[in-house]
Amino acid sequence: MKTSDFILPPCDCPECCQAGVTDRERRRDPYTGVVLHGFALRRWLDAQAQFTRQARAVVGGRGRHASGLERVAGRDPGEDDE
Ligand SMILES: [Zn+2]
Repeated sequence: MKTSDFILPPCDCPECCQAGVTDRERRRDPYTGVVLHGFALRRWLDAQAQFTRQARAVVGGRGRHASGLERVAGRDPGEDDE
C-alpha cells in the first residue's frame, strides 16, 4: 500500500472541529482500515507525540533522518555518530 492510502487530507466535520484536528491529516488504521478523524484522530496524534517524546529521550535527540528514531533499531550502544 502507498503512504497516501494511510494519510488522507484533513476533515472539517463537526467532530473534527470539536476535537481541534481540522488542520491535521487523517490517518487510516492499518489493522481495521478505518479512517480516524475527530476524537479518535486526536487520541492517535497524542499517542504519536508521546511515543516520539519518549523515543527521543532514549536515543538523545534526532538522528540522521527526519524521524530521528532510526538509532533505536539500528545501532549498538556506544556506537559513534558518523
Ligand atoms: Zn472529521
